[in-house]
Amino acid sequence: MIEIKNVSKTFNQRTGGTFTAIDNVSLSIKKGEFLSLLGPSGCGKSTLLNLVAGLEHAQQGTITVNGKPCNTPGPDRVVVFQEHALFPWLTVLDNVAFGLKQKGIPKKQREEMALEQIKSVHLSRFADRYPHELSGGMKQRAAIARALAMDPEILLMDEPFAALDEQTRLILHKELEEIWMRTKKTILFITHNIREAVILSDRVLVMSTRPGTIKKEFNVQAARPRDSADPVLRHTEN
Ligand code: ATP
Ligand code: MG
Repeated sequence: MIEIKNVSKTFNQRTGGTFTAIDNVSLSIKKGEFLSLLGPSGCGKSTLLNLVAGLEHAQQGTITVNGKPCNTPGPDRVVVFQEHALFPWLTVLDNVAFGLKQKGIPKKQREEMALEQIKSVHLSRFADRYPHELSGGMKQRAAIARALAMDPEILLMDEPFAALDEQTRLILHKELEEIWMRTKKTILFITHNIREAVILSDRVLVMSTRPGTIKKEFNVQAARPRDSADPVLRHTEN
């Protein structure tokens, strides 16, 4: 459903000239697939994700979702960033309901919808808290709930758990796995953590130190016990 064809992205440099961040990348992501992007800092992972999000524009090539070009951000593709994703002046409930307000959904209904998503990330008791009153893991749960409230087809996650301690990260892996199995969303997930990529994904792409190219591709789906009652724990407890 996401088709990236011969995409190149360059940035103008302040000193003159251009810098190639993505160099002729082609890639297909299937509906419902969980794809992780790994690679060293500066290799172009966020740039590629931002292109799919419609936050950046490619000079060459095409990116389509279900055949439609994604030149602008859309409610079908929602991004979860590493941090600073929540509005500090809004409670968890109002943060999660924010996008629904933009969609024109009436107050009562959007609060019900937001509370349902807040419940799905186990934050019901904290719905009236402000972001500064939450732990890092709770903030990321709230950011995920806010993304899910928009009911996008695609979740774009740029190192969502990078700032968390190992324990919280493991819990959130399990929760994300549950969300993914329940909602069947397509997920593009950026991480520096190889273990995280393997645990969570169907497929792992490794981008190269030569900026903007894909170096390797691993299919990890076969190694993952999808039908297990507790697939993530089976991996993480080893
Ligand atoms: P990290 O793992 O550190 O997040 P990354 O793989 O996500 O790195 P990108 O943020 O995609 O890397 O950046 C790729 C390259 O493009 C880097 O060299 C970066 O300096 C450059 N770049 C990214 N955004 C811009 C911009 N808006 N203007 C100029 N150069 C940019
Ligand atoms: Mg990045």
